Amino acid sequence: MRLIVKYGGTSLSSAKQIKDVAKFVTSLSKENEVVTVCSAIKETTDDLIEIIQLIKKGNKKKAKQVTAKIINQHKQLAEQTISKPQNKKKLLEMLEKDFCELSDLVDGIVLLGEMTPRSSDYLLSFGERLSIKFVSHAITDLGKKSFAYTGKEVGIVTDSNFGESKPLMDTTRLRVAKTLEPLLSEKSLPVIGGFAGADQHGSITTFGRGGSDYTATIIATCIKADEIWLMSDVDGLMTADPKIASNAKVLKEVSYVEAIEMALFGAKQIHPRTFEPILSKKIPMRIRNTFNTKNMGTLVTASPGPETKKTVKCVSVIRHNALIDVRGGSMVGAPGTAAKIFTTLANAGVNVMMISQNPSESSITVVVKNADLDRAVNALEMELLGKIIKKLEVTTDVAIIALIGSGMRGTIGVASKVFTATAKKKVNVVMITQGSSELNLAFVVKDSDSKSVVQSLHDEFELAKIN
Ligand code: ASP
Ligand code: MG
Repeated sequence: MRLIVKYGGTSLSSAKQIKDVAKFVTSLSKENEVVTVCSAIKETTDDLIEIIQLIKKGNKKKAKQVTAKIINQHKQLAEQTISKPQNKKKLLEMLEKDFCELSDLVDGIVLLGEMTPRSSDYLLSFGERLSIKFVSHAITDLGKKSFAYTGKEVGIVTDSNFGESKPLMDTTRLRVAKTLEPLLSEKSLPVIGGFAGADQHGSITTFGRGGSDYTATIIATCIKADEIWLMSDVDGLMTADPKIASNAKVLKEVSYVEAIEMALFGAKQIHPRTFEPILSKKIPMRIRNTFNTKNMGTLVTASPGPETKKTVKCVSVIRHNALIDVRGGSMVGAPGTAAKIFTTLANAGVNVMMISQNPSESSITVVVKNADLDRAVNALEMELLGKIIKKLEVTTDVAIIALIGSGMRGTIGVASKVFTATAKKKVNVVMITQGSSELNLAFVVKDSDSKSVVQSLHDEFELAKIN
């Protein structure tokens, strides 16, 4: 098989873990062609973000301290990770170049006193630039041939939307295949940096937080991989958060569309665009645990087997939200009302998580994060209160509960089962939405009720027995 194996930062947080990753991909390579995609080591990306914020705030001294911390941590780790002296020397030499460039970059930005989206992406890309060298040298240390490439070096070309770029797939496909095919035919093990690429002018761009998942699927389509494995610290996608439903189970198989919903609902954080490249190519993906490789994890495919088509597959919850109910008689039959409300919220930088409007059109309800509530209410009050809106009502501390599963489509009685279960728990349902795809039924309850509702729905749909 041709495999893309992607490791998140939590799988690369110590010398032992990096060595284990090297051992695992090396053993896989006995029977497979393997391309490894790496995220940054441990919390490096968080540290780089801290540097950006410190520079923006003008705290130059602290920014340089955090830079020094990243450099020292990586130096120490290099000492511990590589055993053969010549390999260690090579790694340290390569890292030294990156360290110099990183320090110069921070100094330069501090001097300019200006953080542009382009310089911010350049800085953020250093996490993966460093991590790939560790993994590839750890593989070399085991006696296998390995090369490290950043997203830019392997040939990922993107638009110039810094911080949230998208690949230009036709160019990317040609360039990535040209870099990787010869390496695979000579049986070496390429290690690619996730999260970043470069635009047509060669400036480094990133895909946004968690973007290494996206890199893995981009690379997979470029070289027609047979499977993609996303390795992290969980056993797979689960029927519920095991901290809430203690009998939650790992799902053996889900469809792409279900996995997209589950990723959005935070069952496991996956970069939202990860599935885009593979939807039409239908490359299967596995969500697996680096620390429990006996378990094959969750298989995500275009069309899961018929035996896995259960009605509901997962109950998830997004906690700590607020609900805003917007009312006004003049909203009725007035085209453009919703547009005004959502434009106002968008201009205030508020992300709307859930929307409902009753057919009388006299009220629109939206759910936002607790953290965005102040901004949202302020913007609506300033812009629209007394005009199209007569009244704003706010409920804080609510949770969104979502049931996900494509088997709900056309199945009678799901909603009745859900609301009977909540009623039995004496929990009040504040708002309900279901898209016409029937893939996701979501409703809002008081935050303090959310745990008992998740557990009771998990029981009601017998999710502990799902596989
Ligand atoms: N290192 C980047 C981040 O932490 C990308 C990734 O982890 O996928 O967001
Ligand atoms: Mg990461």
